[in-house]
Amino acid sequence: MRLEGKVAVITGAASGFGRAAARRFVGEGAKVILGDIQEVEGKAVASELGDNAVFLKCNVTSEEDVAALVDAAVSNFGALDVMYNNAGVVGAVGPIAQTPLEEWQRTLDIHLNGSFLGCKHAARVMMSQASGSIINMASTAGLLGGQGPHAYATCKHGMIGLTKSLAREIGPRGITVNAVAPGFVPTDLTNDLIEDMQDTIIEMTSMRRLGTPEDVAHLTTFLASDQSSFITGQVI
Ligand code: NAD
Repeated sequence: MRLEGKVAVITGAASGFGRAAARRFVGEGAKVILGDIQEVEGKAVASELGDNAVFLKCNVTSEEDVAALVDAAVSNFGALDVMYNNAGVVGAVGPIAQTPLEEWQRTLDIHLNGSFLGCKHAARVMMSQASGSIINMASTAGLLGGQGPHAYATCKHGMIGLTKSLAREIGPRGITVNAVAPGFVPTDLTNDLIEDMQDTIIEMTSMRRLGTPEDVAHLTTFLASDQSSFITGQVI
C-alpha cells in the first residue's frame, strides 16, 4: 500500500475529486481528515471509510476552520503528511463587463484564499516534522485561456503561482508542493457543462475517453506517496 501510515487532510472531500481521493487514500493505508461545507454528504463519506476517516465541517474561506482541520489531523492521528487543497466552485461566469465584483471576490476567496490558508496551516505543522506533501488543485484552466470563466481561470493560474513559489520556500525543509491540472472530468461541478460538449472533450483527450475522479485520485496518490519525494514545484 502506497500510503501506509500516512495522515492526509482533504478539502472539498464530500464530492467529486475530493471524495475519490479520500476513498483511494484510505484504500492505500492512509488516515484522512475530510473537510467540506456539505455536512451530510461529508459525514456519509467518512462513515463509509470507518475509523480511518474523520469529517469536519470546514469552509476554506475561514482561517479558523482550516486551522482546525489541520489540527484535527494531529490530534486524531498524530501527524500531517499530506494536505490536499481541493475545494472549489465554478464561481463567477459570463462576460467581464457583466461580472459583479462580489461574485469575482467570492470565487477568489474560495480558490485562492482557501488554498493559501491550507498551505499556510499545513506548512505550520509540516515544517516542525520536516516532511510532508502539499497538493493544490489547479486545472487546465490554470495553464491556458479559454478553458474556464475568467475568475476561475485567474484562480487556477494563481494556485499554480502559489505552488511554485511555496515549493521554493519549503522544499529545503523536506516538504514538496505540487499542483494537479485535470481537464474536464464529469463531477457535480461540471456535469451540466460536459453534457453539451462531451464529444469535443473526448476528441481533445489522448485516451479518447472522459477522465474520472478516480483517474485524478491516482495522480494525487502518487504525489502523496514517498515515491514522489523528489518532485516539487510541478504542475502535473
Ligand atoms: P465537486 O463540486 O464535485 O466538488 C467540490 C467540493 O468542494 C464540493 O464538495 C463542495 O461542497 C466543496 N466546496 C465548495 N466550496 C467550499 C468551501 N468554501 N469550503 C469547503 N468546501 C467547499 O467538484 P470537483 O470537480 O470534484 O472539484 C474539485 C476541485 O477540482 C475544484 O477545485 C475544481 O475547480 C477542480 N477541477 C475540477 C475539474 C473538473 O472537470 N471536474 C477539472 C479541473 C479542476
